[in-house]
Amino acid sequence: MNLCDERELRALLGRHGFRFSKSMGQNFLVNPEIPVAIAEASGAGKTHGVLEIGPGVGALTVELAKRVGKVASVELDRDLLPILDETLRGVSNAEVVQGDALKLDLAALAAEKFPGLSPIVCANLPYNITSPMLEKLAQTPCFQTVTVLLQKEVAERLAAPEGSADGGAFSLFLRYYMEPEVVFQVSRDNFLPRPKVDSAVLRCARRARPAVETDDEPHFFRVVRGAFLLRRKTLVNSLSAALPELSKERIRDAVISCGLSESVRGERLTLRDFANLSRLLRET
Ligand code: SAM
Repeated sequence: MNLCDERELRALLGRHGFRFSKSMGQNFLVNPEIPVAIAEASGAGKTHGVLEIGPGVGALTVELAKRVGKVASVELDRDLLPILDETLRGVSNAEVVQGDALKLDLAALAAEKFPGLSPIVCANLPYNITSPMLEKLAQTPCFQTVTVLLQKEVAERLAAPEGSADGGAFSLFLRYYMEPEVVFQVSRDNFLPRPKVDSAVLRCARRARPAVETDDEPHFFRVVRGAFLLRRKTLVNSLSAALPELSKERIRDAVISCGLSESVRGERLTLRDFANLSRLLRET
């Protein structure tokens, strides 16, 4: 059965009485070339255990299973389980785990499902959980790479170079742990139902160590987030609002000591600038 053939897919879903859920971000791929291209982009091979989030009816799962040691696919929607039972019958190295990928202990899951294999992630993510999911994956060090299909604008923002106007606090957060790149774009016409936006594949390779050294990570990220709190204002004004315990003068002095202009905006700073600035703002 061709899981990406729209007629066959509709028939399969109809037979199971399945209804798409918008709140679970259900847009299934209906172009067989796309799961192949995503699986290839992930670089997955026989030594990898792949965590997939949201298999849907299994279109990407099947392509991954052909290439890798093992696939474990976490699916939230119980209504998809009997369908996956049917579509993955005979695919011996794919296992479905029912659950919420945001709530599961993914490091423990990888350790249990992928003994002797290197864990990676490959998924067509539900749009509505993109940021919390990427945040969680970035902070789960066992995953060496994370290859995900997500909204095109989000992918481009996340891959924006440091210090460019397109980035934001979350781009810097991700870049602290990983090296993200957009691999290719996927038009909205390749999904059922057709979403209102186009998508892109983002591949993130984990850095051997975080991009910059920080002596107080929570404080560092508080400064990064604070710099984008008032995006249209200067860095000094935005940080003054975000860090009310510090005087504006103190913040201005720290910004200037970092070799930055006092009128600079937060979006212009690199991770190294933020590491320097957060260190200065912590010193008493
Ligand atoms: N992989 C399929 C494909 O490419 O055609 C389906 C992708 S669809 C965009 C997202 C899938 O994620 C759906 O199957 C949905 O039920 C599932 N999902 C949504 N929220 C989830 C969560 N929190 N944990 C696990 N799966 C979730």
